[in-house]
Amino acid sequence: MDDLQDRFPPLPARIAGLGELAYNLWWSWHPEARMLFKRLNRMAWKATGHNPVKLLRVLPRESLEAAAADPEYLRQYDAVLAAFRQRTQTQVCWFTENIIPGECLPIAYFSLEYGLHHSLPFYAGGLGFLAGDHLKECSDLGIPMVAVGFMYPDGYVRQKINADGWQESVDEVLDRDAAPITRVLDEKGAQLTVQVPFTDPPIHVAVWQVMVGRISLYLMDTELEINDPAHRRISDHLYISDLEQRLLQEIVLGIGGSEMLAVMGIKHSVLHLNEGHPAFALLERIRERAEGGMAYEAAVQEVRATSIFTTHTPVPAGHDVFPFELIDKYICHCYPLLNLTREDFLRLGTSPTDPPGAGFNMTAFALRLSNHHNGVSRKHGEVARRMWQSLWPDLPVEQVPIDHITNGVHVPTWIDPKIELRCLECMGPSWLENHDDPAVWGEVQKIPDPEFWGLHYRKKIKLINYIRERTRQRWVKNHVGLGNVVVGGPLLDPAVLTIGFARRFATYKRADLIFHDLERLKKLLNDDWRPLQIIFAGKAHPADDPGKRILQRIFNFARDPALGGRIAFVEDYGEQVAQYLVHGVDVWLNNPLTPLEACGTSGMKAAINGVLHLSILDGWWLEAYNGQNGWAFPGATEGDRDALDAAALYELLEKEVIPLYYQVNDAGVPGGWVQKMKEAMRSIGPQFSARRMVKEYSRKFYQPALAAAGS
Ligand SMILES: *Cc1c(COP(=O)(O)O)cnc(C)c1O
Repeated sequence: MDDLQDRFPPLPARIAGLGELAYNLWWSWHPEARMLFKRLNRMAWKATGHNPVKLLRVLPRESLEAAAADPEYLRQYDAVLAAFRQRTQTQVCWFTENIIPGECLPIAYFSLEYGLHHSLPFYAGGLGFLAGDHLKECSDLGIPMVAVGFMYPDGYVRQKINADGWQESVDEVLDRDAAPITRVLDEKGAQLTVQVPFTDPPIHVAVWQVMVGRISLYLMDTELEINDPAHRRISDHLYISDLEQRLLQEIVLGIGGSEMLAVMGIKHSVLHLNEGHPAFALLERIRERAEGGMAYEAAVQEVRATSIFTTHTPVPAGHDVFPFELIDKYICHCYPLLNLTREDFLRLGTSPTDPPGAGFNMTAFALRLSNHHNGVSRKHGEVARRMWQSLWPDLPVEQVPIDHITNGVHVPTWIDPKIELRCLECMGPSWLENHDDPAVWGEVQKIPDPEFWGLHYRKKIKLINYIRERTRQRWVKNHVGLGNVVVGGPLLDPAVLTIGFARRFATYKRADLIFHDLERLKKLLNDDWRPLQIIFAGKAHPADDPGKRILQRIFNFARDPALGGRIAFVEDYGEQVAQYLVHGVDVWLNNPLTPLEACGTSGMKAAINGVLHLSILDGWWLEAYNGQNGWAFPGATEGDRDALDAAALYELLEKEVIPLYYQVNDAGVPGGWVQKMKEAMRSIGPQFSARRMVKEYSRKFYQPALAAAGS
């Protein structure tokens, strides 16, 4: 770790451990650790956006000294630091007790994006949060893992919506010194840089480190003086549209990432690819073996047996295909090193279902060179087997070797701390350890209905206050005009049934479906006795004009007085907004065009907090819906699908959702609703936790792959 002295003034010796804690995201999923920072100064905690590194940089010395002299603070400090040390250093853990008892080389996890915390904006959406939750859970279970990714120093896209409702993107420069990242140093004490093999002119990356509990995530940064100016921008943005830049990015991720681990002396035995972007890491693994004298076929066998590939989307545009000329331009030096002809190599990345000559398909390449592959829900497993059957032309579709492991969410990250506390009280202290055990969550019944409803209602108020305050600040800073202030939530009412819809504005997610029959919707929103309000959030990809048009449409509805001030749009959706929304709305709406949602995870984040999922039957909901824990409608497969699906949605709202919410007993509690909330937590919490997911990866894939690697 580099010298942190210049990041913030020296801390009082008695509480010096706060420095280390601030640089390990472990604090973010342990409420008692979060409280240590918050208690130093509540206003500063809020003003620094819940970022402990920033907090320690700005906090006056007096606040720190006061804490260091406060016995109650010190008691908590000692308890948290002891737990931190114990849980991040202990040798005995679920992995050693259930998978492999002794030491073994780590699994290398590669992903283009990571959603860990809003102070590290290295994500675009669901794929990133899945990766972030995976790392946190691997830390909790003690899976030996090292992770590789990118830092996007200039490229986090902030959303700003102009007076016409059109999304504009503002790039935000990362303040590296105020983020919980550290430079990795070389033996001379300078920041370590690594040259990506076979690039000409050479591409160099600087190496940064993020601590996620016991797991190190190494991030590459190409913004270096010695790089060719065009190459400095490789790690600028996620999902660059220019194909050549994008290919370079994936070469740096897969090949550069492998080299980075090698230069640091970090050996790994197994590789897990999160989506096809880092698939060139497979190439690097084969090349290393070939260079060591192994025959190509043997090298491929070994790499396959120890590589895991997770595919995440049935949307064709989600799979990168690069023109062969570009592959020739950047990879051709590898063909002879592998003893392959150009044709043999390109065939590895050819998908028979792409048009002839379409190019090099990263998913096909990853599938061919790994033995363990999966989709991310039961349904997506089926869809992926059909989608990629042509790679196994001799097998019937049900035997295509693509398994499924349904995604889950990291419960300690996404559960509201107050609910967590209450669950701990009724389910016992082992609840967090056993939160993938269905029996444990049944205890939620013990919380009396009025108390349970009170907890939820306060979170709804907190959400509304939070988005009003955000809008106020954006207005004061001139980020939004007066007209947009109305859209930003000041008219929301906590007593009203509140639907949340927040996700990327990809067209297949149909954010505007609920506006399909405007008159019917208006009746629901403006009902005198049983009104409805909807909070939207989400970004369109900067190059996605159809997505931006949907957003604009919703934005304009939100400004239309005819909709009663009951539609709000929260700008700049990110991790923090997501936290407030999944804790505080009543219903989480999901209506993509089936079967395009591979899994979906935001609805799980909502459900573990008792927020009821109202969703088309697609992705994870096909596995989770049991008739009692939310609402479902099937999704039309032909005809005017939008009209049919919208009608099904209105029907559910009118006949079931709205009446149940407003059926309140003498104590002011909607008893039937609360029963459903508890049932959602009971039935969804354990099964759709990242804990269940990581255990499944461990048993299905990590264990055999580690065995094949000789662990
Ligand atoms: C969970 C999450 C997502 C992914 O949600 P989906 O339901 O998969 O679309 C996207 N963005 C943020 C900020 C999230 O927290």
